[in-house]
Amino acid sequence: MIGSRPAGLEGPAPEHRSGRLSVAALRSVIPGRMWGGKGCGVPCDYCRVLVSAEEIEYEVEAQLDGAPITLHFHARCYDTWRLSREPRVPDPTAAAK
Ligand SMILES: [Zn+2]
Repeated sequence: MIGSRPAGLEGPAPEHRSGRLSVAALRSVIPGRMWGGKGCGVPCDYCRVLVSAEEIEYEVEAQLDGAPITLHFHARCYDTWRLSREPRVPDPTAAAK
């Protein structure tokens, strides 16, 4: 008996960029237009918690590696994200330099 069968077309597809961005990716994003509004039920790209309809959601058009993406943030997470990208913010890990 030959037990061979065609293989190779199945398997889990790696999930790139359809939701979860690493911290490093978030830092390398180039932000474009931004606007705020009510939460529309998508998770925040910073803390990954859903932005509820009662909360303000910041939506940011951005580019990551030349590809357009849209980021969603809580207002507080947007601030934190912006500050984390801000090169002038003192970085404790760089203090030794
Ligand atoms: Zn958040």
